[in-house]
Amino acid sequence: MKLKIPEKLLSIAPYEPGKPIDEIEREYGIQKSVKLASNENPLGPSPLAVEAVKQSLSEMHRYPDGSWHRLRQKIAEKFKVDPETVIIGNGSDDIIALLCHGFLSTNDNAVMPFPSFLMYDISVRAAGATPVRVPLDNLAIDLDAVAEAVDSNTRMVFLTNPNNPTASHFSSNDFQRFIKKIPQDLLVVVDEAYIEFVRDPDTFNALDNPLSDPRIVSLRTFSKVYGLAGFRVGYGIMDKSVANILHRVRQPFNVNSLAQVAAAAAMDDVDFLNTSIRVMHQGVDFLRAELSAMGLTTHPTQTNFFLVDVAQDARQVFQALLRQGIIVRAMNAYGFDTCLRVNAGTESENRAFIQALKKVLAGGSPKE
Ligand SMILES: *Cc1c(COP(=O)(O)O)cnc(C)c1O
Repeated sequence: MKLKIPEKLLSIAPYEPGKPIDEIEREYGIQKSVKLASNENPLGPSPLAVEAVKQSLSEMHRYPDGSWHRLRQKIAEKFKVDPETVIIGNGSDDIIALLCHGFLSTNDNAVMPFPSFLMYDISVRAAGATPVRVPLDNLAIDLDAVAEAVDSNTRMVFLTNPNNPTASHFSSNDFQRFIKKIPQDLLVVVDEAYIEFVRDPDTFNALDNPLSDPRIVSLRTFSKVYGLAGFRVGYGIMDKSVANILHRVRQPFNVNSLAQVAAAAAMDDVDFLNTSIRVMHQGVDFLRAELSAMGLTTHPTQTNFFLVDVAQDARQVFQALLRQGIIVRAMNAYGFDTCLRVNAGTESENRAFIQALKKVLAGGSPKE
């Protein structure tokens, strides 16, 4: 092949998602596996969303509503903002990419914590700009260091609150101190994919006071607490001038009809939301208590997942757990060689994980 690959794409390593359950079950010859690897809702999708989708299947010969009218209206009402400040995407991944394509070009950079969500890095590079990684401080985002990394070429800053994969969070006071140091002509994208799980009331929440600062973009998703990861719906709330740029670069039908219907219905499913949050809080508390009792260190969390230090090569523990039908994430690729990331499952899934981990660790170094 003589194709010329664009220079800007050469340094991108494709995102490696957690493998689908089917694939792992085939690979390892296991069944009824327990997946605690992608921070999904263990209770499944919102039942109201499922019902609404079934009702709308007969309309699938029509194009989607390219302006997401109903869903956008609901989001705008919930946060008391003008619908024109709401952009909906094929997952919040889509909006991250749109922001990068809309606002970054060659010679620009975007500052981001590291390790954090890998899609920022990928989308920044795809836009031809340079990611500037700021190391975490003791697993938390170092807002002072992020502010210091901003230079005259910086057009965008990404923050993740709570952070993935470390589950750390920052407070409103910390954020207010941070934003004062940030120039007026760049965007501060706050990815709040897990904000619904936060229990510490001091945690910064960009939509407590939406659009108070035109630089701030809040990103939210239906993939986590709403249980709709497979539908791919995320949204951003941002200044109209920012939203207008995203309309120029987005696909006209970037959110499919079923996804719009599912997300709108899920927003009404208050019982399901409250139950989901309660179950995941109970799950996280149960798992951390059990792991501590086993003598393992777990890291604090404001989300539905956390890091546990298994005090040996996490990849090997991960493999041994897979053979027991338990899917978690090894954090070696993020530089935490002895940590697993685990999300709260149902009560029985949580017990199955603890039991399997006890077996694996009792077996000494889990070799083949
Ligand atoms: C899961 C997750 C998202 C959500 O991505 P979608 O594309 O909406 O599924 C965004 N940011 C972070 C940090 C996440 O962990």
